[in-house]
Amino acid sequence: MIKENIANLGIPKNVKLVCVTKTRSVEEIKQAIEYGVKCIGENRIHEAKEKFPLLPEVEKHMIGNLQKNKVKSAVELFDMIQSVNSLKLAKEIDKRSAAIEKVMPILIEVNVADEESKQGITVDNTWKVIKEVLEFQNVKIEGLMCMAPWVKAEETRPYFKKMKELFDSTKLKWLSMGMTNDYKVAIEEGSNMVRVGTAIFGERKY
Ligand SMILES: *Cc1c(COP(=O)(O)O)cnc(C)c1O
Repeated sequence: MIKENIANLGIPKNVKLVCVTKTRSVEEIKQAIEYGVKCIGENRIHEAKEKFPLLPEVEKHMIGNLQKNKVKSAVELFDMIQSVNSLKLAKEIDKRSAAIEKVMPILIEVNVADEESKQGITVDNTWKVIKEVLEFQNVKIEGLMCMAPWVKAEETRPYFKKMKELFDSTKLKWLSMGMTNDYKVAIEEGSNMVRVGTAIFGERKY
């Protein structure tokens, strides 16, 4: 089933697939890798710690809210941190990366619809944060990330348009937007990195 699901995603070649593996077993993840997945996304440090030693062959992205006390582990475990939702967090990542002589690629998480329930930097503050983070030596900003509001796929379009406009002004490399519900719309609006879990593995059981 995982094989067919990946084949049926229909993601264009210029769009990077981050296969979201939270709650999935190492066996399931290995199947996805066998069928072409090259990059996975996790949102909890403890899950990453358990699974990553068994998955040396894939690129690993942090996509969840990161507590300050977990940053030290995160910079050791991950190849990219997508969910950088405050200047304070960027600073801590810089400090912990410097300690292990690493330059950590990051994305700035934007709260595109200004939702109280979501983390992230407001659209209006994004440039200010980018400029400050560019001063840090041990993090490298490579793009922007967002989660659209939880609405019907077609209704996410204005938010993705807004993100694309902001992204184009930055000249950065990656625009990470689109999940199972809305990745097709996100790609139409210019996403070049999608984070998809359910459409690959089925519904998550927590
Ligand atoms: C879980 C998660 C996803 C994937 O969600 P699906 O609906 O399963 O595709 C994408 N991005 C983030 C930040 C997530 O936490």
